[in-house]
Amino acid sequence: MTQEHLVGRVALVTGSTSGIGLAIAERLARDGARVCLHGLGDREQIQAAIDTVAAAGSTAPRHFDADFTDSNTIGRLFDAIEAQAGHVDVLVNSAGIQHVSPVTEFPLERWNAVIGVNLTAPFLTTQRALPGMLERNWGRIVNIASLSGFVGVPHKAAYVASKHGLLGLTKVVSSETAKSGVTCNAVCPGWVLTPLVERQIEVIAARDGVDIATARSALVAGSHPSGEFVKPQQIAGLVSFLCSPDADEVRGTGWNVDGGRLARSGPC
Ligand code: NAD
Repeated sequence: MTQEHLVGRVALVTGSTSGIGLAIAERLARDGARVCLHGLGDREQIQAAIDTVAAAGSTAPRHFDADFTDSNTIGRLFDAIEAQAGHVDVLVNSAGIQHVSPVTEFPLERWNAVIGVNLTAPFLTTQRALPGMLERNWGRIVNIASLSGFVGVPHKAAYVASKHGLLGLTKVVSSETAKSGVTCNAVCPGWVLTPLVERQIEVIAARDGVDIATARSALVAGSHPSGEFVKPQQIAGLVSFLCSPDADEVRGTGWNVDGGRLARSGPC
């Protein structure tokens, strides 16, 4: 079901050239927003993302470049968006990366990259978007965190630290905006079948000497009590709700979408 609650609003979805971010961008376009795409990718991938949100109804969708491992790019990203699309009413921080390694061998360069993209970038985009939202007394900030924002996962030190931090940032921004028409929430997916996870499945298949389909099934069966992956469109539906008037008083949440994983302790 879609509504048109974002007509006249500009939405920036970071990391929307792929996966969850692209599904969110498509959904917000269907909800009436003018969508600003962002993320890495080759020319074909970026054009495909633009075509997707245009088909979903976004007026004048555009893609904006910025590599978040360099925090200086964020100011330039907002300058370009404000010049070409206007002020950002809806900010969805979805860009994210992963690195898997035991903590004792975790390279500092990878730690800095993961923290930079997953945590410092949402801090800086929020810093840049929030003053205008408060001035207009309306805005939505949705951070795509993770189940790894609640629990520790071996070999994912930087990712887990970044997602715990992102939930903390969400609560702080929500507290600071509580008396305004701006809300800030986080969505915490379990396993969603996207390129980010497909890359981890390939590593598991090679490590365990099994085919991709077997590694994929084992991953979700061993983690989600439902035995099902979450679909990117289901995350997008929740983001749409958080941007709707029904969610005006939903503030500071970390909403897990994980096939029942967080509710069950121990092996499922
Ligand atoms: P994805 O790899 O499909 O997409 C990641 C996006 O981030 C892409 O658009 C990519 O271009 C962008 N990105 C990567 N490096 C960047 C950089 N240096 N600068 C700017 N942009 C960059 O991944 P996804 O699975 O769609 O993940 C999206 C978000 O959801 C991430 O924050 C991820 O941590 C979170 N998440 C994913 C899952 C899952 O199972 N897929 C689970 C929990 C949380």
